Amino acid sequence: MSNSNLVCPLCQCSTPRHYHTDERRQFWQCETCSLVFVEPSQRPLPEQEKALYDCHQNDVFDIRYRQFLSRLATPLLARVKPNSSGLDFGCGPGPALAAILTERGHHISVYDPFFAPCTIVLQDHYDFITCTEAIEHFHQPEKEWNTWMTLLKPQGYLGLMTGLVQSPSQFARWHYKLDPTHVSFFSRETFEFLAHRDGLTLEFFGSDAILLQRK
Ligand SMILES: [Zn+2]
Repeated sequence: MSNSNLVCPLCQCSTPRHYHTDERRQFWQCETCSLVFVEPSQRPLPEQEKALYDCHQNDVFDIRYRQFLSRLATPLLARVKPNSSGLDFGCGPGPALAAILTERGHHISVYDPFFAPCTIVLQDHYDFITCTEAIEHFHQPEKEWNTWMTLLKPQGYLGLMTGLVQSPSQFARWHYKLDPTHVSFFSRETFEFLAHRDGLTLEFFGSDAILLQRK
């Protein structure tokens, strides 16, 4: 089944195919970039999103959350030069990754549309940008991706964490898709598409950390 009225919110391709339907929502997959996305009319409203994010209590000093973030922080810290400038995009209410990177001597700005909405940080340029457990919330990920490409210096790193789609059968039993604020689901193929299109190198770490570098 395809829907000629739908456009991929990442690459704007207009031939998405039906991917999955559960009790609450319908999911489509882009033929070009492989993004799986929620039917646009079933995305949460901003006030619903904010109420749910307020329940996410990521403590800056929570050891387990820091261990989770280390899957991205460790390879990123091994690659960036000392005293680099970074932007943690979508930092949420407890910017733990920003704290980890600041402790290692880097200069970190934070941005979050709900919790750190000062857009002046989006006028600077950065040696690296991080976005952990946020890209799956983006309704129009093309918008944030283009922002990152504008803000990232040559040779700059883009470090992401998000659960990756593996197959339709994995998706069908995946708890990750049940969060009503999760609307965009990436896979290795999606990042391979973006890296190839925009001239980035690409590495994966574990099941959910992605590191890209601008060539
Ligand atoms: Zn697409």
